[in-house]
Amino acid sequence: LNRRLDGLGTTIFAEMSALATATGAINLGQGFPDTDGPEEIREAAVRALREGKGNQYPPGPGVPELRTAIAEHQQRFYDLSFDPDTEVLVTAGATEAIAASMLALLEPGDEVIAFEPFYDSYAACIAMAGAQRVPLTLRAPSFRPDLDELRAKITPRTRLLLLNTPHNPTGMVLTADELSAIAALAVEHDLLVVTDEVYEHLVFEGTHRPIAALPGMRERTVTIGSAGKTFSYTGWKVGWVTASGPLVSAVRTAKQYLTYVSAGPFQYAVAEALRLPDSYFDTFRTDLGRRRDLLGDGLRAAGFEVYEPQGTYFITTDITPFGEKDAYAFCRALPERCGVVAVPNSVFYDDPDAGRSQVRFTFCKKDNVLQEATERLRRLN
Ligand code: PMP
Ligand code: GLN
Repeated sequence: LNRRLDGLGTTIFAEMSALATATGAINLGQGFPDTDGPEEIREAAVRALREGKGNQYPPGPGVPELRTAIAEHQQRFYDLSFDPDTEVLVTAGATEAIAASMLALLEPGDEVIAFEPFYDSYAACIAMAGAQRVPLTLRAPSFRPDLDELRAKITPRTRLLLLNTPHNPTGMVLTADELSAIAALAVEHDLLVVTDEVYEHLVFEGTHRPIAALPGMRERTVTIGSAGKTFSYTGWKVGWVTASGPLVSAVRTAKQYLTYVSAGPFQYAVAEALRLPDSYFDTFRTDLGRRRDLLGDGLRAAGFEVYEPQGTYFITTDITPFGEKDAYAFCRALPERCGVVAVPNSVFYDDPDAGRSQVRFTFCKKDNVLQEATERLRRLN
């Protein structure tokens, strides 16, 4: 393993899901739904396979049907207009979009300011690009970014701000004021912004606002979305990028040599999914909002300190009330102690003390699974 990948080992999600499989524990660690998305969308994928749509290499930027549907989605929800031919790119999940963006836009030695706790692939992709990650720590209980601290971290080497809203793992959703302040800094310092908005349809308080819609931002922002999250088909690995022509062209250049193209038949199905009526998106959000409350109440009853998320399908908690401090050790022992798997947020911080006692649970699971899990967690007392 080369030095750039030093310490990146196995992702915490794979580690904790393997632990769940090995112990038979309820997996509230890795974020994947235990119920598949809409059946008609699955049928659309089967139809595409049968009709031979996308069974051979599809076009590199993605099939035109999907690129058009992505552009229409950005218009419909955010009033943002993108040319499907030059300003949209289909990727192998948001994960590839993140990797291709970092590899395409960063020079070795460039600095990238990113929130911490961070989604794990950010650290790996920035490292693989030979760039330097500069963390902006989000602190409990609100996890709001300190914008003076952000300003202070910008140096002549800063090339890019890597945003994530709604934020995994804390559930923080950037407000209109925060987005404006961040956009103003990006314009003032001529920075690029890569924004991971895979949980755009899971905002329970307030609304999701893409930073690309703010003045001066469209030409400097790469926005990332994912069908895995929005339509509950995480195994399909269909994601996308919307940005100005030159930025999409740069990201596409990197993508060509990572995967060349993304799997074909699923692209046709996701094109249909993006055109589902508003009722689909509303139900998806209210249903998960209800489950957020179910899990949140259960975790509080079990004795956790719960940081209420405004978005995503994760809840960050603190284990200090149990007299425990080390989230990683706690998560390793949890299946044995009570048959539940969770993820330690401590691995998402550079500063090991910053999130040492934080543990993340996902609520994208059936009601009875969430109920059973929280009943088991009560045994910790
Ligand atoms: N970004 C964030 C913040 C995520 O939580 C995830 C996955 N769960 C991804 C990106 C990756 O998405 P995909 O599965 O589409 O690659
Ligand atoms: N994004 C999901 C999570 O945060 C997992 C995705 C992955 O395992 N890479 O749990």
